[in-house]
Amino acid sequence: MKNGTTQIVLIGGGYASVWAYRAIVNELLIEMIAGKVQIRIICPDDFHFFHGWTAESLMGIVGDHNRMSPLSEVFKNAEIIKGRVVHINTRCRNVRVDLNNGTRSIVPYDQILLGMGSADSDSIVGLSEYAYQLKSQNAYDQTKSRINNLIRQAAESDCQTARKLLRFVIAGCGFTGVEVAANLAEFIHALKKQYPSLCNIRPSIYLINSKEELLPGLGRNFRRIRQYADKTLLQYGIKVLNQLKINRISDKGAYLSDGSFIESEMIISTIGQTRLVLDGTENMERDSEKRIITNSFLQVNHHRGIWGAGDSVQVMHPGTMSPCPSNALWAIKQGEHAGKNIARAVLNQSLKPFTYKGLGQCASLGIGKGIGELHGIQFTGWLAWIIRWFFFQYFMPSKKVMWREISDWFYLFISGKRKYVNIPENEIGIISKISINLLKPLYEN
Ligand SMILES: Cc1cc2nc3c(=O)[nH]c(=O)nc-3n(C[C@H](O)[C@H](O)[C@H](O)COP(=O)(O)OP(=O)(O)OC[C@H]3O[C@@H](n4cnc5c(N)ncnc54)[C@H](O)[C@@H]3O)c2cc1C
Repeated sequence: MKNGTTQIVLIGGGYASVWAYRAIVNELLIEMIAGKVQIRIICPDDFHFFHGWTAESLMGIVGDHNRMSPLSEVFKNAEIIKGRVVHINTRCRNVRVDLNNGTRSIVPYDQILLGMGSADSDSIVGLSEYAYQLKSQNAYDQTKSRINNLIRQAAESDCQTARKLLRFVIAGCGFTGVEVAANLAEFIHALKKQYPSLCNIRPSIYLINSKEELLPGLGRNFRRIRQYADKTLLQYGIKVLNQLKINRISDKGAYLSDGSFIESEMIISTIGQTRLVLDGTENMERDSEKRIITNSFLQVNHHRGIWGAGDSVQVMHPGTMSPCPSNALWAIKQGEHAGKNIARAVLNQSLKPFTYKGLGQCASLGIGKGIGELHGIQFTGWLAWIIRWFFFQYFMPSKKVMWREISDWFYLFISGKRKYVNIPENEIGIISKISINLLKPLYEN
């Protein structure tokens, strides 16, 4: 306790922090109203980014702003400190923050959640200079702008040049890589209506997979999902190169581990994430992926009042006793649990171990082309796509933003067009305008 008020600090405005915050508010609202507990969020961003819609927003279906939930709305009862934690002083129990306004601040804590997630990996030579990535908003913006520029340039070029411009390499065959490759192929196909000059051009999309099969995070027994993914990628004309790695990236293309070279105007990397080693956390135990190891209560061992959830930490799966995957669902569930335990710690109650066993995974390989598993049951096609769509709506942190994003989908389904592909205003269908207007009151309240 400092000055009689318990200070709870949540680092980051990602999934882990959002759900931790909600759990804390649920348990400690009375104490917060009485001024006995204060929550502070430290984050350099103004928004929570819903990464699940990355492919759809890259390809013009969902507006960029409609996957971004304002932190001021999500963390209504907390103080938001705009800045980046640069040091944790575990002895004095405070953090040093580089504020966005250029100054520094020291923020004390009694309980703190490490929710700083992960960042795009730069483990390949030339990756940070020449490749495109997706996790940070800056990287995402550059990727989106490059895709659009290449397509526009191709539409204005002769066939040979256009074919060269539309040669993409996607590194990584996990859910994100497969999703991006498939959606890119579908997007270029959809744009042929807008740019008839592209009609005779078949883009080349190479998906580089270091493993034997697609979707390495999925158990070996999910054969139906893999077969569906293989078949769908083949239909799009995507070339999957298995058991090959990218050794080096240059401004001309990618050098592969078998000595071959793929000339490409754009390499998109989805090969994984790195973890920040914050100053002051060097003595915390980490795994080979630099995730800080937590115990079953989601506390960092030997550090009183320090908790972890999401991509930045390793939490053991209570059933398999292997590390939980790093994805949004696990970040949400771990964040929620850490939040409840933080509240228990504040109320001097006994802590409960993390017992969540998982739900499943899913991805979209284009509209109506879903893949997913729920408790081990495999789904493909429209059913998987619809299940994913509803799940994502449920987990959108801001319901206002969710309604705006749903209106983007209505626009697509009613007009048959993607709303964010520079379509002139007069091309917006009357029916879709009506549907958007009907939805407006729902998200303006
Ligand atoms: C392109 C893409 C698509 C994805 N699609 C899916 C999907 O479909 N389904 C799924 O389950 N998962 C998906 N994921 C994975 C998912 O996004 C992550 O697992 C999830 O974001 C982890 O949540 P988190 O709260 O741990 O971290 P994040 O959501 O990354 O949040 C971390 C927060 O911490 C902040 N931060 C970082 N450093 C500091 C610091 N020093 N000080 C203060 N704040 C800091 C960041 O700004 C951010 O606000 C996808 C990831 C990517 C990149």
